[in-house]
Amino acid sequence: MSSLLLRSARIVPLTGPAPEEPVDVLVERGTVVEIAERLSAPAGVAEVDAAGRWLMPGLWDAHTHLAQWTLASRRLDLSETGSRAEVLAMVRAAMVPGVALIGWGQRSAQWEEPPTVAALDEVTGDTPVVMINADFHHGWCNSAALAVLGVPPRTEEQVVSEAEWFAVSPLLERLDPGGTSAPAYRAMLERTAALGVVGMVDFEFDNAPHRWIERWSQGCDLLRIRRAVYAGGLDGVLAAGWRTGDPLVPGEDRLRMGPLKIISDGSLGTRTAWCCAPYADDPSNHGAANQSPAELRELLRRAHAGGLQVATHAIGDRAAAEALAAYADTGAGGSIEHAQLICRESVAEMARLGLTASVQPAHLLDDRDVTDQVWPGRGERSFAFRWMMAAGVRLALGSDAPVAPLDPWLAIATAVHRSGDDRVPWHPEQALTVREALAASVDGRPTVAVGSLADFALLDYDPLIAPPEVLRAMPVALTTVAGEVVHSRL
Ligand SMILES: [Zn+2]
Repeated sequence: MSSLLLRSARIVPLTGPAPEEPVDVLVERGTVVEIAERLSAPAGVAEVDAAGRWLMPGLWDAHTHLAQWTLASRRLDLSETGSRAEVLAMVRAAMVPGVALIGWGQRSAQWEEPPTVAALDEVTGDTPVVMINADFHHGWCNSAALAVLGVPPRTEEQVVSEAEWFAVSPLLERLDPGGTSAPAYRAMLERTAALGVVGMVDFEFDNAPHRWIERWSQGCDLLRIRRAVYAGGLDGVLAAGWRTGDPLVPGEDRLRMGPLKIISDGSLGTRTAWCCAPYADDPSNHGAANQSPAELRELLRRAHAGGLQVATHAIGDRAAAEALAAYADTGAGGSIEHAQLICRESVAEMARLGLTASVQPAHLLDDRDVTDQVWPGRGERSFAFRWMMAAGVRLALGSDAPVAPLDPWLAIATAVHRSGDDRVPWHPEQALTVREALAASVDGRPTVAVGSLADFALLDYDPLIAPPEVLRAMPVALTTVAGEVVHSRL
């Protein structure tokens, strides 16, 4: 917790009015204590000249997988490929025999030739190779990688998907030792701070909150982290007595226990999101629930009794409706993660229950075409941010990194423009205003004022009037967490 005098900053009127002229902002012990046109710095307090830049609360990413994101930057990017042959060509070019290779970002649901183990083995030989699909719900592994990951060999079956995949994905470390070391995390945190980010909710699959405690003492104490746990780790968290919001290190308020995460259905890309109506390209398939109604309620009940909030992944409209019924029955609180396809009645129910919609706008860039194709007529109910806002649902924007890049400006710009290129906006009736999108990206913090926590992002341009391309890549001059400078180019 630090002290700081920020000179000549324009305060962004995010949720309420702000002075129109640039002001000086004095921070003491992590909190704003005075705002005026001209302040003098108390002895020993550092001064930073904002030179008329724009000041707002620091950004949050409400849905990340930080080990996967840390690793993603070391991996072969397959996101621009469009066929099996293209992926295999990139793998062939990138491969060093004997050095395991991990790629990510391909979209095999759209390929004519399926991703088979045999096709991959032919190109890779004995060198372990894993390619993670863009939606992170399956991995295309060769035989050598299956062996390293402890997955039974397969000839007929193609990819390792869903529950089996979620179980082995933490083991990818075996292919890239050092990829999730403390220095690798530290580098990721510094890149993230440079975007104006002050905090993230970490939904990593490893069920190991204690790893963050270790890492924290190894130099990864830069930003605020809320660490979630999955059902498999629930007993341990309950036994430790960690409730949502509790510091994981006594006296350290930046590293806290997050919610219990439940994955209640699948994804659109793998046709496993649980829907009220069938998939247009597979009329017998509605997707499916991952738990019985009784199992879902039991998890919510145990978490709620133990003081944990619950973050329930629900991508299909049926999954969202069923999850909401379970929250209503158990009294649990928390969020619906994704809420990608939703009925209007469910939006009203989410508001009534006081649940947060934790949404990832950038997914609409990837999913707009496949939505029109397999959920025809349901586009209006996809990424339905305007309905949520109108109903009074609290929105929290995120990336689901590494599914989309950990970049709140991409999420904000997409929530506003609903297009990432020169195509027309997709269902613009569901767009947010810039002010709404920013307010949904700061963990509920209001306009900077006396009494504010000094978690700041200082921007080169006024975000409220920035054109789309500037908003999308907003230059951030300074980021602070509790008054501590975590990124600066001033
Ligand atoms: Zn996720």
